[in-house]
Amino acid sequence: MTNAEDMLAHAAAHAGELAAPGLSPRPVRKVAVLACMDTRIDLFPMLGLRRGDAHLLRNAGGLVTDDAIRSLSVSQRRLGTEEVVVVMHDGCGLLGAGDDQFAHELAADGAEPPWRMGGFADVEQALREGLARLRSSPELPHRDRISGFVFDPETGALRKP
Ligand SMILES: [Zn+2]
Repeated sequence: MTNAEDMLAHAAAHAGELAAPGLSPRPVRKVAVLACMDTRIDLFPMLGLRRGDAHLLRNAGGLVTDDAIRSLSVSQRRLGTEEVVVVMHDGCGLLGAGDDQFAHELAADGAEPPWRMGGFADVEQALREGLARLRSSPELPHRDRISGFVFDPETGALRKP
């Protein structure tokens, strides 16, 4: 059985819990969270979120990419969010990762995408750069409440960069 088949069966058995009749697609807490896709980050208990509270965006690194800005722009301009929280973490796979090597691997398979993998040398510096990019992005009409945290998967602590 594939994961997809397992997942479909699981969802079918839990449809009653999954249904959200009447829940608004507009985030109740008017916040969007951008986080790394890392398996150890469980955003709901970490941030005290419940379904319906927030938009959750995840990518490799929790990086402020063009596509993250696209989604945050839709979140603010169409769905009422006014605040952004970015979560990066210690032990990220992008820490010390080589963009050139990754691009070389892609090119060897005939892929020359416009994006870079986004490796970084210092997670706190990378987070500060991401926050600075958000604060200077006119795609986002609300830029006065943009925050970021670094999560330590070993201790469970969140810290400011
Ligand atoms: Zn990560």
